[in-house]
Amino acid sequence: MMKGLKKSATTLLRSSKSGGINFKAASLISELKFVPNQLLMRNNFSTSLIQQHGDHHHDHHHHDLMEDELLPTPKKTIINIKEPPIPTEVDLGAMGEQVATASSANSDPKAAERKMKRARTVNYLQKPLEQRILVLEKYFGVKPELGKPVELTKEQIVNVLNIEDHEEQRALFDYANSITESIYGSKVYFRGIIEFSNVCQKDCNYCGIRKHMQVPRYTMPKEEIIEQAIWAYENHFGSIMLQSGELNTEGRISMLVDVIREIKKRTGGGGPGEWNKGLGIALGVGELSRESYQRLYDAGAHRYLLRIETSNPELYSKLHPNDENHVWEERKKCLETLMDIGYQTGTGVMIMIPNQTVQDLADDLLFFRKIGADMIGMGPYIVQEGTPIGKIWMEQYGHMNEAEKKEYNRVLFRLALKMTALARILIPEANISATTALQAINPAGREIALSSGANMVMPIITPTKYRVNYQLYQGKPCIDDTKEECKRCLTDRVKWSNKQLILDEWGDPISYFNKRNMKVPNKE
Ligand code: SAH
Repeated sequence: MMKGLKKSATTLLRSSKSGGINFKAASLISELKFVPNQLLMRNNFSTSLIQQHGDHHHDHHHHDLMEDELLPTPKKTIINIKEPPIPTEVDLGAMGEQVATASSANSDPKAAERKMKRARTVNYLQKPLEQRILVLEKYFGVKPELGKPVELTKEQIVNVLNIEDHEEQRALFDYANSITESIYGSKVYFRGIIEFSNVCQKDCNYCGIRKHMQVPRYTMPKEEIIEQAIWAYENHFGSIMLQSGELNTEGRISMLVDVIREIKKRTGGGGPGEWNKGLGIALGVGELSRESYQRLYDAGAHRYLLRIETSNPELYSKLHPNDENHVWEERKKCLETLMDIGYQTGTGVMIMIPNQTVQDLADDLLFFRKIGADMIGMGPYIVQEGTPIGKIWMEQYGHMNEAEKKEYNRVLFRLALKMTALARILIPEANISATTALQAINPAGREIALSSGANMVMPIITPTKYRVNYQLYQGKPCIDDTKEECKRCLTDRVKWSNKQLILDEWGDPISYFNKRNMKVPNKE
């Protein structure tokens, strides 16, 4: 089997024997195209991003830029980027010639097709948005209207996840964005993530900090965690998130209780219920007892993120050791407990894990809705060598050459964006995150997600020296950046998405209040 895979990656990509998600390299490669005005913007983007970072060398900002056509069409002048005009026929011709010369292929049989597709895309972009999204009618069964969510069955969700046509995909992202804007306007919320410890009692088969991974373990001293939080507060971050490996000990819980209390005290804020006072605190520290969750809530944390990882218990059991420490039902119960206590509760999944199907992904979205998630964070699964799932992935995809890898990432990125867009359509009022892992597979991943359904970003503000030991997956971005760089970089990314960064506000999910018939609190 391995030999066959090596021989023809296209076959591999076309027929995933494991029943996993198929992606068709060949057909997508032939669809490669660019939209001139977006390309212009992209060029500005990459140059200024590199300039922003001055002398620092940041590999992740120098990658080949992909997905140009997905960048939002600017509505207004943003920072140093002028609104590029929609190209006329003449411009297009000129661009076409440049491309032809560049590829030195007068006789390129694909050139005419490319030109035709480009013209079609430009034509598409010239249409008003409300007309563009009409191509989705055949998937939705009803005419979509801007800003108005539709109901979808599982089968319809699967069909949307399978959309390959670029214009239909783009229409989906634009439609999702219109729903985001109808609820949150162009507001984007900021949360600083402090990855305060990589000590972990769990052994999740995909994760780079699982118990059985040889990695130096650290736990930041209390004072240092608090110091990072104060920095975030002084830099107008409305909220932070404290994330770590899972450690269900009294020492850890009481340490966290102290840290949360102290942060609250030093930022002049109360706990849950006293909205927008002090720094908002979210936790992502795994499965704990109800009692521990309650103590942390009482100390002042008001949000909790716990990804279900997959809504399919059978797949979950393949991703984790089969022991009493890794039980899908328990994880789900934790989510229910968190909600019951009163936390704004978030969950999410990894996308394109080996053996996951499109049906699973559709179920994931329905799971989020059924359980009543207020926050959703999803990201692509990314291989981590030295893990059991990493090994399976390498067997299936390890032989890809550069072009195939690029294509794999492209398909993965599209799938993650479709999941983001569908989450917005199905759970319109939730806070949906443009996750770090998206940026691992596309340098512009987070800002593209912000115009495809997401409304929040989470800059990493972990001190640089710890980051190298908090690599959940290979190629995790921003590993040698400082918190200042992460803040500046994401501030710019939000602007590039034509969105407005909201500072000094907790940025709570509207769904939380509406479900409880509470008034949505405003910052006074
Ligand atoms: N221990 C905490 C949080 C830390 S891990 C918890 O259990 O909630 C945060 C998230 O990183 C996980 O929920 C998982 O979805 C993601 N993650 C871990 N390994 C990954 C990988 N190889 N690729 C992509 N995401 C990964």
